[in-house]
Amino acid sequence: MDVTVGVLALQGDFEAHGRVLRALGAEPREVRVPADLDGLDGLIIPGGESTTMTLGIEREGLAEPLRSLGAAGTPVLGTCAGLIMLDRDHLGMMDLRAERNAFGRQVRSFEADLVIDGIDGGPVRAVFIRAPWVAEHGDGVTVLAQVDGRPVAVQQGRLLAISFHPELTGEQRIHERFLTLVRECVAERAGS
Ligand code: GLN
Repeated sequence: MDVTVGVLALQGDFEAHGRVLRALGAEPREVRVPADLDGLDGLIIPGGESTTMTLGIEREGLAEPLRSLGAAGTPVLGTCAGLIMLDRDHLGMMDLRAERNAFGRQVRSFEADLVIDGIDGGPVRAVFIRAPWVAEHGDGVTVLAQVDGRPVAVQQGRLLAISFHPELTGEQRIHERFLTLVRECVAERAGS
């Protein structure tokens, strides 16, 4: 089934996400203005720099349209800065608070083999770049993976957020899992 997945393309690592989506048979669409969200089956908010991304979202009037998309049940994946954007202090789409640069700054960029709930086939190679962790979260948020006891992959309904960069390692299982959510959602909507 062909699905169209938006990638917020104001700043950051959006092109690499587009390539992974295409490799998995989804149609990526770069999102820069609210009209780009029309008819999307899912959305990825990539890594980058959360302050710059926040300014871009404000400038383009994207905050409310992005919230509405999530509230309508459309799956969203936030990675790294994208996780920060989803938290209570930014778009407020997930019931969590992200701690920015939580592992320290540049010096604390690192890779780890991560066992993630719901992802089979062995650990996922995860690249952390000035990454956030989830400092607090509500009961509706499920923790899928941790580093040093800190949540780095979480899910709330059809919203997925991870601290690392799955688009940089050739790893496709995070995007595959996300696309499963997207395809389920499309099938459900078609059936109702
Ligand atoms: N440290 C960045 C921020 O706070 C996020 C880093 C990333 O997305 N790789 O916005």
